[in-house]
Amino acid sequence: MNFNRTTDYLALDFDGVVINSVEECLFVSFNAYEELTGSAPITSLKHIAPKIIDEFKRMRNFIRAGADFVYIIMAISTNIKITSQQEFDDFCHSHKELEKTFFDTFYKHREQLSSGNPELWLKLNPLYHGMQDFLLQYPDKERLFIITTKKIFFVQKILSFYNIPFIDAHLFHADKTRSKKNIILELLDKYNIDPHHFWFIDDQVDTLIQVRDIQINCLLAEWGYNDSEQVLLGKQHHIPAINLDDLKRIFVF
Ligand SMILES: [Mg+2]
Repeated sequence: MNFNRTTDYLALDFDGVVINSVEECLFVSFNAYEELTGSAPITSLKHIAPKIIDEFKRMRNFIRAGADFVYIIMAISTNIKITSQQEFDDFCHSHKELEKTFFDTFYKHREQLSSGNPELWLKLNPLYHGMQDFLLQYPDKERLFIITTKKIFFVQKILSFYNIPFIDAHLFHADKTRSKKNIILELLDKYNIDPHHFWFIDDQVDTLIQVRDIQINCLLAEWGYNDSEQVLLGKQHHIPAINLDDLKRIFVF
């Protein structure tokens, strides 16, 4: 793995690569579901049973979009056991009519929490160990991007809380109409980058498999939301998994 710091570009996913937002997503989606089922909102994670927290963390790696978090709470609350990505996708699909409501309610609660109780919101969104230094010491910020399904407004809030300067125009929001693959293709085109000089780190193996055919360098962030099965699936698609030490070794020092 030879990253060339004078010619190469690096793009990072945000949730599961830069920050560990699992507790924030749990808090927000729990309250979204509480509202939709007519229950009172909680004010602390302590009000959620440990069993629910464990189940939520176990299923975190099935998530593809914001509404999915509320589907996880729904599955747990209605005692639906989900053990694979396929089962999760089927479950969401069988309640497709709820998707927009789940999406809207999830983002409404995130907005309420981040503006109403920013201290708690930021505490629920910690950076991964060493990530602050990594981003601060990264040698060439002109060649560094973030490509995320999180709304950019929230990314900016978190980065600024940790005093990490980042070029605003290098933050990209991916969604169903503009995928991460589309965004990377646009970047390759805009900056006239040879795909072999573009590196992308994500913690979702499915996303990496989708972008791999454009011949960029894909790496799976082992510290994010994935399990040994997904690491293996990545290997079968020639996508190496790296840990946080590898990250610094390959890209900074
Ligand atoms: Mg991610």
